[in-house]
Amino acid sequence: MHPEWGTITAAELIGPIQGKLVSGPQDIPFAGLSTDSRKAGPGALFWALKGERFDGHDFVQKAVQSGVSGVVICKTYLPRLQAEVEPDRTQNSPTVIAVKDTLKALGDLGRWWRRQYDVSVVAVTGSAGKTTTKEMCACILEQGIPVLKSQGNFNNLIGVPLTLVRLTPGIAQVVLELGMNHPGEIARLTRITDPDLGVITNVGKVHLEGLGSVEQVARAKGELLEESSPGTHIIVNGDDRLLMHVARRLRRDLITFGLGPQNHVSAGEIRGNTLDGVSFVLHYREGSWPVNLRVPGRHNVQNALAAAAAGFVAGADPEQVVKGLEEFQGIKGRFTIERLSRGITMIDDTYNSNPEALRVSLETAKSLVPERGRLLVALGDMLELGDAAEMEHKVAGRLVADVGAAALVVLGNHAQDTIQGAIEAGFSGKHITAVETHEQMVKVLTHAAREGDIVLFKASQLMGLGKAVALCKASMERERAADAL
Ligand code: ADP
Repeated sequence: MHPEWGTITAAELIGPIQGKLVSGPQDIPFAGLSTDSRKAGPGALFWALKGERFDGHDFVQKAVQSGVSGVVICKTYLPRLQAEVEPDRTQNSPTVIAVKDTLKALGDLGRWWRRQYDVSVVAVTGSAGKTTTKEMCACILEQGIPVLKSQGNFNNLIGVPLTLVRLTPGIAQVVLELGMNHPGEIARLTRITDPDLGVITNVGKVHLEGLGSVEQVARAKGELLEESSPGTHIIVNGDDRLLMHVARRLRRDLITFGLGPQNHVSAGEIRGNTLDGVSFVLHYREGSWPVNLRVPGRHNVQNALAAAAAGFVAGADPEQVVKGLEEFQGIKGRFTIERLSRGITMIDDTYNSNPEALRVSLETAKSLVPERGRLLVALGDMLELGDAAEMEHKVAGRLVADVGAAALVVLGNHAQDTIQGAIEAGFSGKHITAVETHEQMVKVLTHAAREGDIVLFKASQLMGLGKAVALCKASMERERAADAL
């Protein structure tokens, strides 16, 4: 019997999560699982997790009031539960399951749930390009079979198990993204997901705060290789020397993808890199197929190769691979192109930022600027860089100068580092503005932008630069309407 929400009961769950049934019925089915008390409706199982800002245990009472059928809590919370949650003298007391650690128990549930299904799992990790590769891969596999994929970047110790427990009969393929901030996280996620196919897109300077150095990032990504079972097919970026160094040490059979012809899956004749996309010829074994991606940039060719490699290994035929790749339309906030009526183009790359992604983003944006146009760059801080933050923001400034941007607008605590880097690399201070708010940023950009220009926005997500993109669009369109009067 496959587990399914609507039929699964506490009696079936407590074994896999090593839980103890504290009170309430054990044979009432749970309608679904929720870790958010605001979304936990009648009949659901509320799972209390302790996060950085909130502790789900503080909301158990609220969840009970909204009619959940059960709660999973940490056993140390039991005395508080008994004191806080009013005993229900009617028949409707929720089932209370206590575990040692609710986060670990959630992972155990995901792991168990996944193993109850005869599905193939693709797990994508890497420093950059995970979500894009995951989405491209899902586009390919969906051509042939029903696929479950992680929503957005549900890629951590919470998001991955929550994705796995959405598995239902009828799904044949799962495509997941595995992310990490700390050593050991990919190892645990690999044990939870037990992938048939693991993809590592690349390694770079991401999450240095938790990991220290890029070598350690590589090692952490290598946990996928170490922890996956010997039968797991491993797909790695053959152009990434550091990654290949780590991968080779583990003596596993590798399938490589990359721009270089030595890779098992490679690309040739990369052409027409415009705002409408990029074309290339996909090579695998004896076959070659033209592909027209609807997203621009060489990095997206890399992501497409990773997804194609996963598709081929998972049994997709070349037509399916090409069709899937060509259907992929990009993801909001990841280099999303918005054409405005004044002939100005905005690139919204505000979903996240790190040194490698910023470099790629700047270079790609520059390569797309039409002959008469200029590149205007709006940057917010890159977070989670630890001790490397000051230096990396200086490098960011230098990159802006190196790509020949016409103007730089910066926001955030590291704005001065970025500015210093840009000026040291020869960028004129006249074309740099440090701003304090999104509104100021928008004002500067609206004033500066003219026909043919590309305005690139990039920052870590917490900088909320997506808001500036929306404001800027509205402001520039207003200007245009005023011009037309
Ligand atoms: P992730 O999920 O790993 O954060 P995404 O697919 O969401 O990656 O892409 C985020 C940004 O990272 C993109 O907008 C682009 O700037 C950069 N990026 C994407 N793919 C690559 C790649 N293969 N190599 C380097 N940078 C990339």
